[in-house]
Formats: sequence, structure tokens, C-alpha cells
Amino acid sequence: MFVIKRRFHFCASHRYSIPELSPQENERLFGKLHHQHGHNYILFVGIRGSLKPTGMVMNIKDLKERVKAIVDEKYDHRNLNVEHPAFRTLNPTTENIALVLWKELSGVVNGEGINLHSIELWEGKELKVEYTGGRSMILSREYRFSAGHRLYDPNLSDEENLRLYGKCSNPHGHGHDYTLRVHVEGWPDEKTGFLIDIREMDEKVMEVIEELDHKFLNEEVEFFREHLPTTENILLYICSRLREKLPLRKIEIMETENNIFELECTD
Ligand SMILES: [Zn+2]
Ligand SMILES: [Zn+2]
Repeated sequence: MFVIKRRFHFCASHRYSIPELSPQENERLFGKLHHQHGHNYILFVGIRGSLKPTGMVMNIKDLKERVKAIVDEKYDHRNLNVEHPAFRTLNPTTENIALVLWKELSGVVNGEGINLHSIELWEGKELKVEYTGGRSMILSREYRFSAGHRLYDPNLSDEENLRLYGKCSNPHGHGHDYTLRVHVEGWPDEKTGFLIDIREMDEKVMEVIEELDHKFLNEEVEFFREHLPTTENILLYICSRLREKLPLRKIEIMETENNIFELECTD
């Protein structure tokens, strides 16, 4: 079976509100998100199917037209709360938009041995929701921190450390701008449409980032006195610190744009 993904984009506005609540209560619950604002959304649509005699699973042009028809009609440059019937009752959170798109796109993609495989919806560059069917979805959020480190084994000579850890063993240390992606798993709340309240998630992740940001990890963070601050060990540290606070699925760190590390945090 093949999985093929195509990227789309749309700009749309929305606001969060629960009709049973008063404006003051909505304001308290959603803050700024209760006011109409907008985003540049990026949507990846994945389909799954077997190869046809044409040498293709599905003509990508065909996929593009079918998806674009829905995106253009219902989402692009629309006020989702007012112009999309599904969001008269559902809060147009990224989670709910992904679920509604799943239903709409299944209707135009499924058939002839092809099934919708995944919806990946980015609200801007830092928030993403992934849905592949069933009663669970993954939300991920991007954060940044900057830290210094040195990779070396104190029992080895500088030359031996250089052979093992390369430039990262520089005796004076060096540092990186780390990009951290935290993936949580769950199901959106019926009323708020939130899998998780992003503001709470940000607070919890920032508490951990504070422990690392602008620190020389080898000396200023207790854990790294015992564990070499490789990206793998930084992932273990963040995973252990966040596991109790969030429904963690996976964390990812980009040490540089070229080096990407991931750790499943479910076991
Ligand atoms: Zn928004
Ligand atoms: Zn380094």
C-alpha cells in the first residue's frame, strides 16, 4: 500500500465561544481567542491505496481538484463560525477543523481502492493537529530554547574526546538554538473543542524550558552532571519532566536544521 500526501493552504478567521455562556464567561474561558482573528493554515492530505495499471495510486491532479473544491468553497477566506455550517455548533479549533475536514474529504476521496489516510493541519507554524481516524488525535506545538554544552568523557584525553565527539568536545563548550516539538495525544472536549488548553500546555512546557534556556547544561542543570547533555539525554530529561504534566506521546528536538531527534514517551 502506498501513502501519498499533498499540501494545501487556506486563510480563515474564527473565534471561540460556547453559546450557553455569557460574553463575560466566554471572555474568561477563551481570553483573546473569543475575539475574531485569523490564521494561515497549511493542510496536508494523505491518501492510502494500491498501485493502478496507470502506475499511479491516484492522479495527483484529481486529488488536488477534489480537495481544493472543498477548501475553496468552505474554508479559504471564510469566517468559519458564520460561513461553515459545522461550526455553528462546534468551536472551530484546529482539532475540530481537522475532524470536520476528515468527514468532508473522506466523502470525495474514498473509493476505487483509495482511502483517506491522514489529515495534518497546521495553524501557523507552531501548532499542528494530526488525525488518522478513530477516537484519538495528536496535537503538537513548537518551542525554542538556547543552551550551551560540551560532549566529553572526563576519563578520556582531549584527543580521544575529539575522536569520539568531534567538534562537540571543544573544551570551552559551544551551544545551539534548539527547536522542541511536544506531541500530546487525546480527544477534543465536546464543549471547548480543545484536546488540551494550549495556554496550559505552554505554561507547563515553559516551566521545563526555563530550566534549560540560556544555561550551560553540563554545569547548571543537575541531571546533566550525571548524564552527558547529548540531544538524546536532553530528550530523556524533557520527557521525564513532562510525562506527569501532559498526555505526552512523543517529543522531537531539532538541534540544528540538519539533526532531528525523536523520542516516543508512551512507555
Ligand atoms: Zn485562532
Ligand atoms: Zn552541540
